[in-house]
Amino acid sequence: MEKIIVPHEYNYIGAFVSLGCNLTCDYCINLNEENSTRKSVSRKPMSGKDWAKAINRLSILNDDLPITLQGGEPTIHKDFYELVNGVNDGVKLDLLTNMIFDVDEFIAKIDPKKFTREAKYAAIRVSYHPGQNDIDDLIQKAKKFDKAGFYIGIYAVMVPQNQEHIKAVQEKCLAQGIDFRIKEYLGFDGQQWHGTYKYDEAISQKVEKYCDCKTTELIIAPSGHVFRCHSDLYENRTPIGHILDLNFDIEQIHRPCYVFGHCNPCDIKVKTNRHQIFGHTSVDIQNIRELTKEERLALENNANFGLGLYNYEKDKEFIHD
Ligand code: SF4
Ligand code: SF4
Repeated sequence: MEKIIVPHEYNYIGAFVSLGCNLTCDYCINLNEENSTRKSVSRKPMSGKDWAKAINRLSILNDDLPITLQGGEPTIHKDFYELVNGVNDGVKLDLLTNMIFDVDEFIAKIDPKKFTREAKYAAIRVSYHPGQNDIDDLIQKAKKFDKAGFYIGIYAVMVPQNQEHIKAVQEKCLAQGIDFRIKEYLGFDGQQWHGTYKYDEAISQKVEKYCDCKTTELIIAPSGHVFRCHSDLYENRTPIGHILDLNFDIEQIHRPCYVFGHCNPCDIKVKTNRHQIFGHTSVDIQNIRELTKEERLALENNANFGLGLYNYEKDKEFIHD
């Protein structure tokens, strides 16, 4: 297949293999019907074979930029092993998982070299969710992975109400030689916003404004559709293309957006880039202004202005499985 060039400026490639999950965390952005329209996001998922085909067509100019398999929980995809083993050797894969799967089967089916690269953080990053997955189970599984030659780490979000517990779990893991890292809590806890954001108003959820927005991330939905940003993915706005479309290309342009104010914290937060250097933000936003009366009316009537209409019928031309 024709290659898709992923430019130097790109800092992240997220392959959202499945937005479904085998856990039910009450704060989950994917499962919270109030915050997200997950049902409508779940268009027909790509097969493992198509995912591998899509990943193999990416020509990544930054040779240390991995493709991160994530979700939801990516390992629940029915063809997960076929997907991973279908990816060409030499492609760098990362995995974000809750590790609720059969570790022995994973180790038997996947060569550690699929998830091996030079980096300051683990290629397999396990998220610990208090009350959902058990830390002792995760520690035992992480040890098995480590013994089999995988670079694995456990991560937890420092939820304000759970700080003492997370610190205790961190100590427990570090004492057993497990790489355990803490992630910043992002979002609104009912009283205040947590996190550092480049454009504070962007996540207010209270305004809709116009802006021009350019991303440095490739966001691929379970269906293979490519979105401008996490907010578009979760809200199932119009995609900018399909990863298997022969005509799809990454354009480094500012695109018009009429829902500035409803951005997702993942896109707006100031964070570390893949070199672990702080100060990076996924999107660059310019020309923020109020909507005109006509634009607001069009938005209320669900107009897709700026992005054009996506022809889902056309998908049949390049999805065969
Ligand atoms: S493990 Fe992650 S994806 Fe699954 S329910 Fe919890 S937060 Fe959501
Ligand atoms: S302004 Fe926000 S919602 Fe619009 S494209 Fe950028 S990140 Fe996405």
